[in-house]
This record gives sequence, C-alpha cells and structure tokens, in this order.
Amino acid sequence: MSKSEETKMEKIVSLCKRRGFIFQGSEIYGGLAGIYDYGPLGNDLRHNIKQYFWDKFVTEREDTYGMSAAILMPSRVWEASGHTELFTDPLVECKICHERVRADQPEAISDHEGKHKKEKAEWSKPTVFNLLVETKLGASENTATNVNLRGEITQGVHVNFKNILDSMHPKIPFGLVQIGKAFRNEITPRDFLFRQREFEQMELQYYIKPEEEEGRRQFEYWKNFAFEWYAGLGFKRENLRLRQHVADERAHYAKDAWDIEYKTPFAGWKEAWGIHHRGDWDLRRHKEYSGVDMSYYDEEKKERFIPWDIECSGGVDRAVLFVLLEVYTEDEIDGEKRVYLKLAPRIAPHKVAIFPLLKNKPQLVEKAREIYKMLKKEIPSATFDDNGNIGKRYRRQDEIGTITTVTIDFQTLDDNTVTLRDRDSAKQIRINIYRLTEVIDEIVHGKLFSEFPLEIK
Ligand code: ATP
Repeated sequence: MSKSEETKMEKIVSLCKRRGFIFQGSEIYGGLAGIYDYGPLGNDLRHNIKQYFWDKFVTEREDTYGMSAAILMPSRVWEASGHTELFTDPLVECKICHERVRADQPEAISDHEGKHKKEKAEWSKPTVFNLLVETKLGASENTATNVNLRGEITQGVHVNFKNILDSMHPKIPFGLVQIGKAFRNEITPRDFLFRQREFEQMELQYYIKPEEEEGRRQFEYWKNFAFEWYAGLGFKRENLRLRQHVADERAHYAKDAWDIEYKTPFAGWKEAWGIHHRGDWDLRRHKEYSGVDMSYYDEEKKERFIPWDIECSGGVDRAVLFVLLEVYTEDEIDGEKRVYLKLAPRIAPHKVAIFPLLKNKPQLVEKAREIYKMLKKEIPSATFDDNGNIGKRYRRQDEIGTITTVTIDFQTLDDNTVTLRDRDSAKQIRINIYRLTEVIDEIVHGKLFSEFPLEIK
C-alpha cells in the first residue's frame, strides 16, 4: 500500500466534514463510535444512490414491489432467523482483522494469532454478547416488552410475505425490495462508513420456485444484475470483482453465496454487496416460529410450496464510502493543485452550479439569479453560488463533484452567452443561455465536453 493510498481515507474524511457531506454522530458531545450524521451534500449523494437502486430494482421492473417494514421487531423474529442463537457465544474480536473467535477455544485463538506473523494480535475483552441492539417498549419495567432494533432489513420483508401474497396476489417469481436502517452492536466499528453501528441497507428478496435449475438460473441472473448495477455507480471495472464464498464462509442453509467486492486502498478487497441463495430457510423458520403458513399456491400447477429466496443485500453507506474512495482525484490545473470528486452524473449532488462573475455587481447577480431560476425548473439539483471569488467557487464545486458550472459575466448582458466549465478537464466553452439545458442534459447523459464546439450560439 503506497503512502498516498494510506492517507486517502483521511483526506476523504476531512473533505466530507469540510464540505458538508458527513460528520461524526453527535460530534459536539464527543461523538459516538460507529455513528455518522449526513450533512446536505452527503444526504444528496446518499439519496441519489438509493434513487438509482430504486429505479433499477423497482420502478423499471414489473416483477418486484417496494416496501418498508418497521425498525423495531419482537425478539422472537430474531430467534426464528437464527440471529439470537448465532451471536450468543463468548466472543473476542481480533483488533487487526476483525475476525471474531470463540473466547473459550484456545486453539482457535492461537491459530488465529499465527495468521498475523509480524503484527502481534490484540484481542477485545471477551464478552457474551449479541450483535442485535436491544431496547424495551412499554411504560413499566414489569410489562415492558423486549424488542430489537433490526440487525438486518431482510427479516422485515420475510415476515410480511403472507401479507404481500394476500394483498398483491403476485405470481412467482417476484421480488420485494426495501431500503432502510439496520443496527449492529459491532465490537470495533472502524474505517469510517465501512463498519458502523447504525447504517442503511438496500435489498431485494426474490422468491422463486424451489427447483435446483431455476435456483441456479435466477442466482446467475441476479449476481450479474447486481454487479452491473454496482458498476453503474461509477466504478472502474478493475476495482470490482465477484467472489464466491468458500464453504465455511456460508451460512449452513445457504445454497450459494457471492460477494461483489471493491478494491479498497485501506484493506484490499472488501465486501460491498452480497448475493445469497437462502433456499427456504427464512420462510420455513418464520412458519415454524409464528405458526403462520408461509406457503405459496401455484394456480397453474395446482401445487403448494415454500418458495426459495435469492437475496441481493448491500450497504448504502458502504456504497457512499466506496464511491468516494473511487472518485477522489488530485490533479494540477495550470500549475495549481486541485482536488475533485469525479462523481458519476446520476449520483452527483449537483449537476450544475450557477455563479455571477462578481458578487458585488447587481446587474450580474440579477442575471445570474434569472438564469438559475430558469435552469432550476429543468434541473432541480442546480445550485447558486456567489461565495468568495470565482477561483474559490470553482475549487469548491470541483471538491463536491458538481458536473458543470455556468458563469455569468459582462458579455452575458450584451449577447446572452455564458461560460460553461467542465469539472474533469476544467475546459470552458461559450454558450447561448437558451442552449444551456439541452447541452447540460447531454453532458449528464455522457457526452464528453471535448465533443462540443468552443462556441454554441
Ligand atoms: P461484513 O462481513 O462486512 O460484516 P456481513 O457479511 O455481516 O458484512 P451482511 O449481513 O451480508 O454483511 O450485510 C449486507 C451488507 O450490509 C454488506 O454487504 C454491507 O454493505 C452492509 N453492512 C453490513 N454490516 C455493516 C456495517 N457494520 N456498517 C456498514 N455497512 C454494513
């Protein structure tokens, strides 16, 4: 790992704070480990990632439904899903690589320490703990009910399987898609947004016939679909890969499991998304624990079965982090160093920023406001900026990844043309304001700045 890669994360954390993307949670009270608050630009970036997910997984499809289950769920749900059982061993966590090992198995501990040859392994204190975050609902100690903040959003979908069948009457195969918060009492939250205690997930549960061949076909389809979707966030192909879980990584019920991994500068290949073939595990367990029938009746074949589930499960915040690591760029323009975020247009917080050349010339400010209002109707993410001098504004907009900027100067007052500047190349063209929306739209849809003439009348 080179020195510049080592510090990239620190540079991003500092940019996120300086430019209003992401702050430490409750920072003025000393912060809370593994908890982050999103400022205006981070919120827009995260929203755009979720919107892109929703467009591709719900809106543009005919075989999926969106839904939104509650965060609080009774502990019984987690008994059914296996989470309660899975996390009740006394565990210690290796502070180097976060692998958790049973504290009561000395051989597992020494085996693990052997993996870190030079570094001396350090362990967290042993605890019998559960990753699920618990709370109580109800006014008095005696009558309060134990509930959990969901540890993954998946179960909120499965517990509604029957409600969806009874209300929407979907035909198999069909999918349920959800975005929402999950909470995990991670022992050592670290690496900024990578391992948090409160984070957001975006998921698809796709229910299919319980047949091996159909399972393989659907799994292959969703593995590739999820990969293409992830690449569409603006990653270079060589920085993403699909990796199959080896047998001992997989949950015992999983028929197959793959991860989309990103080549991080801080720890090599790391999971971005998981694609899991969960078989009928979840529905069968909820049937067993709730006593409610979770089967599907196939009208054509006149047969009843518990469907299998193919899951695509990804972290929203982890996608935000990986995108930032991917697009953070340093270069030189006319001998001056600059930082810019090479964000893909579909997720950039602002597609365009509009400035008056000088903020103390009322005729320029008035014209700039007029053009801003006109553009805002067509491009809602347009922003107006008259802070500091023009050089500072370019630097700020580059740092927040704004695709293009429009500058209104004295010539604008004469001939209705403005300067349009490209974020990546810093090249400028002169363009008539009536052509602005059309040209910005072409840029947002991938046309290169270099393909435009220097003047567009
Ligand atoms: P990891 O091995 O990294 O802990 P996991 O296998 O426990 O992840 P899943 O339970 O499959 O993760 O969760 C699905 C997705 O949710 C992950 O791919 C990741 O993007 C995201 N995710 C999981 N845990 C966290 C966390 N603590 N902070 C941020 N995102 C997370």
